[in-house]
Amino acid sequence: MYRYLFGPVPSRRLGISLGIDLVPMKTCTLNCIYCECGKTTDLSLTRREYVLFEAVKAEFIHYRANNPKPDYITFSGSGEPTLNSRIGDVLHFIKSRSEKIPVAVLTNGTLLFDQQVRNDIKTADVVMPSLDAATSTAFKKVNLPHPRLGIESVIDGLCRFRRQYRGQIWLEVFIIPGLNDIPMELQALKTAIEKIAPDRIQLNTLDRPGTVASIRAATPEELKNILALWNLPNAEIIAKAPERKKVLSFRKDIESAILETIVRRPCTLADLKNILGLHVNEINKYLDVLEADGKIRVVKQQRGFFYQL
Ligand code: SF4
Repeated sequence: MYRYLFGPVPSRRLGISLGIDLVPMKTCTLNCIYCECGKTTDLSLTRREYVLFEAVKAEFIHYRANNPKPDYITFSGSGEPTLNSRIGDVLHFIKSRSEKIPVAVLTNGTLLFDQQVRNDIKTADVVMPSLDAATSTAFKKVNLPHPRLGIESVIDGLCRFRRQYRGQIWLEVFIIPGLNDIPMELQALKTAIEKIAPDRIQLNTLDRPGTVASIRAATPEELKNILALWNLPNAEIIAKAPERKKVLSFRKDIESAILETIVRRPCTLADLKNILGLHVNEINKYLDVLEADGKIRVVKQQRGFFYQL
């Protein structure tokens, strides 16, 4: 069992992706209301070696010696990976050992105003930042940022990174109806996106419950309307959960383990993590599919969202 590596998980955007989590659960610069991993417990802008470089290195060496090649290696997880001050060293080590496996960094992009962060991740093949708002009002409503984080510096950091970085930037925009899809917000987002000039723009919406019960997913029509309004040639909607089953690494045994656990009693995501010993991101991928197939449902209770048959 690895502590910092997880999966490989079937990823909607990357195929079979081996995840590397460089920060403790919910250590983040944001506290997004749609976060699938729950509320942020350590809201911070401080970079440090949250997970030791040597520990990740040892797990990676062991993994590669004992497992087939994944499609991608992805820095992601249940917090913001660029908060780890050794991400550059981990990336460098993996690139030197990973026999041309492309490396992706999933980031909320909020620390890219820092030249050191931009340097640290510049050898990744794909950087996938998110940007859900371009006004301070929507940023505070959707992303509940660290108090010292302003949306202007986030957008400026993304623009600076674009100028410096030679790889692919796939910008994810998470739509929460009523919060960041009103005409003024969409126009501000479009202006920011055009300035950043990512290679791809990927519209996403809720698959799993967020941290706030009142929000809902955008419908396919709503997402299509935004694409039509923006009229950006490289914008697309991210594939939905059922299609994830087609990914080769979808493992029936994990699906069965989740079902066998919640048949005994309804569980939260944290319960499933503790019982099954799997990373929350890995569990979430399977919950998406089980819910889309109508095999489970989610119920809000006092202790959070519970999954049950
Ligand atoms: S969605 Fe990502 S950026 Fe937002 S709180 Fe969760 S881990 Fe942090």
